[in-house]
Amino acid sequence: MCNKCDDKHHIAGTAPADPARRNVMRQGAGLAIGAAGGSLLAGLGGAAGAAQSSTPRSSMAEETVEAFGFREAGAPARSMQIQRRAVQADDIKLDILYAGICHSDIHYINGDWNVSGVYPLVPGHEIIGRVTAVGANVTRFKVGDVAGVGCMVNSCGTCENCLADREQNCLNGTTFTYASEDRISGGLTDGGYSRKIVVREHFAVNVPQQLDLARAAPIMCAGITTFSPMQHWKLEQGQRVGVVGVGGLGHMAVKLAVARGADVTAFTTTPGKVPQIEAMGATPVLWDDQQAMQNLGNSFDLMISTVPYPFDIQQFMNLLKLDATLVNVGQLGQIDGLNGMMMGFGRKSLAGSMIGGMAETQEVVNYCAEHNVQPDVELIRPDQINEAISRVVDKDVKFRFVIDMQNA
Ligand SMILES: [Zn+2]
Ligand SMILES: [Zn+2]
Repeated sequence: MCNKCDDKHHIAGTAPADPARRNVMRQGAGLAIGAAGGSLLAGLGGAAGAAQSSTPRSSMAEETVEAFGFREAGAPARSMQIQRRAVQADDIKLDILYAGICHSDIHYINGDWNVSGVYPLVPGHEIIGRVTAVGANVTRFKVGDVAGVGCMVNSCGTCENCLADREQNCLNGTTFTYASEDRISGGLTDGGYSRKIVVREHFAVNVPQQLDLARAAPIMCAGITTFSPMQHWKLEQGQRVGVVGVGGLGHMAVKLAVARGADVTAFTTTPGKVPQIEAMGATPVLWDDQQAMQNLGNSFDLMISTVPYPFDIQQFMNLLKLDATLVNVGQLGQIDGLNGMMMGFGRKSLAGSMIGGMAETQEVVNYCAEHNVQPDVELIRPDQINEAISRVVDKDVKFRFVIDMQNA
């Protein structure tokens, strides 16, 4: 246990993680990386231990930082103290300016996905911050720069996926920004609902000046998560793309696809979002409009589903053209209800995709700056986190809450 705070998982120095917690996190990591290919868990523990033996530890003291976290599943957010490691040679340190509230955060906060061992939990993986310190080996940042941190903060760096700029698919286990076994400090990582963060330079991106910083945070998860499939499946100008679910991820998918010149249809269950969808340049369709759904059969080159809970996915598979793909980026649990015959007749594919690599994350941030693609956000103070979470669950946000960390 850390001797500077009462949080049992904030372990000072190199103390090993509680084995029970480690097992829980292996399960959690397995859930997250399951779509990437099954039994990847075996290497996680070993890699996590081995990766740091060569990391020189600084003599600089760790720092106690205020965070807004959750003591147990379903508990309200409250101010708490966490430790940030001393800046290592490859690290940068940020004063966090803005942190988005992603629906994944809420799954963790509520204890969905069997993540019961992750509390106290400090979520947040859409982070914009100002650099206040850099390690000796840092080349891409200097004090005063603005940096973004997304869903991951480390990976092995040596496996074939890491070497191919796919750190999110690390074969030895990606270290996610929160509730993930920390390769450097031990214990579990803490996310962006906090005042400061220390992160390896490789896992931070440069934020161009053209971006409105208050609106940039959601690019770090919602933006890259929807940009990556458009790149991989090569969405082109004039092609027809469907976006299923128009929340934080979905509205970024719409904006990014419109920016590419695609013909975008957005499927929502919320009639109140129709005017905003039209204003973004897409055609809105309500899920329960059976006639509209029927008319759109076999017409899409690509579909991206951002819906974060189980739903009737086959009705959207039916909208794909021959050989087209529906990419699921929102629903990380079991997917039921696919019809093999209908998939076969249309030679249709269902694919998964999870965030994007660091090079691609820099690419989407630059792309948003160049094409003026800016998330729609509602700024809140840290003391409004609980209220914001309720509103996300009620689909009452257009389209992303962002915590203004400098505001009280
Ligand atoms: Zn997210
Ligand atoms: Zn790797």
